Amino acid sequence: RTVLGDPAPALGLPSAPAGHDDDVLDRRERVLAEVQEHYYARPPRIERGWREYLVDVDGRVYLDMVNNVASVGHAHPKVAAAASRQLRLLNTNSRFNYGAITEYAEKIAATLPDELDTVFFVNSGSEATDLAIRLAMASTGRPDIVAMREAYHGWTYASDAVSTSIADNPNALGSRPAWVHTVDAANSYRGIHRGDDAAKYAAEAAAVIDRLAAQGRPAGGFICETFFGNAGGVALPEDYLSEVYRTVRAHGGIAIADEVQVGFGRLGEWFWGFQQQGVLPDVVAVAKSIGGGQPIGAVITRKEIADRYRTQGYFFSSTGGSPVSSVIGMAVLDVIQQEQLQENARLVGAHLKARLQELGDRHPIVGTVHGSGLYLGLEFVRDRETLEPAPDETAAICDRLLELGVVMQPTGDFQNVLKIKPPLCVTQESADYFADALERVLS
Ligand code: PLP
Repeated sequence: RTVLGDPAPALGLPSAPAGHDDDVLDRRERVLAEVQEHYYARPPRIERGWREYLVDVDGRVYLDMVNNVASVGHAHPKVAAAASRQLRLLNTNSRFNYGAITEYAEKIAATLPDELDTVFFVNSGSEATDLAIRLAMASTGRPDIVAMREAYHGWTYASDAVSTSIADNPNALGSRPAWVHTVDAANSYRGIHRGDDAAKYAAEAAAVIDRLAAQGRPAGGFICETFFGNAGGVALPEDYLSEVYRTVRAHGGIAIADEVQVGFGRLGEWFWGFQQQGVLPDVVAVAKSIGGGQPIGAVITRKEIADRYRTQGYFFSSTGGSPVSSVIGMAVLDVIQQEQLQENARLVGAHLKARLQELGDRHPIVGTVHGSGLYLGLEFVRDRETLEPAPDETAAICDRLLELGVVMQPTGDFQNVLKIKPPLCVTQESADYFADALERVLS
């Protein structure tokens, strides 16, 4: 294996913590304990990176299979050059700025149909979804937002409030305002993977929205991840979005697409989630990939919604869309196009998914292999029939992978899912290295 050099010598990571007890430890504590135990206790101390690789202070090379934010790869020279040039020209926003921010807004809007013509720049995914929610509330004058269970939209007050997987937790840091209604629909990747009737999820979601309207409190909007990142990378059931968007709009509400996780190439299209379903939202929140690692977020909407918002709500961001962010964002978009990274995501993703499925045929601990493009999910279970999660085994697998030079981490509500979302420039050779390493660990 010349790609990564010799496998890293054993790092002697501590063994996985004893079984988790949901009743005793809340999820955040568990996750924190897990992270401290496995990554902070004896972490590889990463100091640089290139493409899909990371290098620690001792010069050891790792394959980064989890960094969805480093869309064009770590330390891309074109991105670095654009940033450094702009840092020497003009660094900050001002009322009279001209150039970078306008050009960047136009570039982003050009990836979407003409109706979505207005761009707000923020600094993160949480800010983007927060603003998207405010746009829906303020422009409709309605306090209720419908969201999905098991989703994650961010940590700010509004985005956390609609992140029901966290807000359902009684110990959650954020509290959940009464204006959020959760849709118990399309939430279960287990259900979807077991072939449950997909239409039922859309019908359940639509029923929640209809019910609110019947109660005289029609929803201001509906927000969902257009691809279930939080569940480990699961596509929404076919026609889900068209049915739910139609219903929310029929009652005068706004359709919000959270494309923070998958927008801009991860699934092989600019906006795979809703493009795949042939529908257009009213508001799109993006971040992560577009910044290639820098704090950049954006909300794209129709001018008419933005104008209504401006009369009701407030928006100002000191650093959102700064000249440096803008040139970085433009360089990232250019690299995605020039290096055909969307196509790479499709091809390498399909290859890797096939390899993981093969692996699943041989190793019963693999429950489901799901996802698309370069957002794949691998679920480890103790029993394929009951799909009983295998969190301790997943933690141990990640430890062993790290010894073999692969950075991976357990995720999901049960900490038994690997979310495989490497930089979009990952090569097939690296994907094979990962699959080979996993094969070795499972064997
Ligand atoms: N929305 C989705 C779907 C996400 O996955 C995330 C982050 O993981 C966010 C929003 C929040 O983004 P950020 O961490 O940049 O605030």
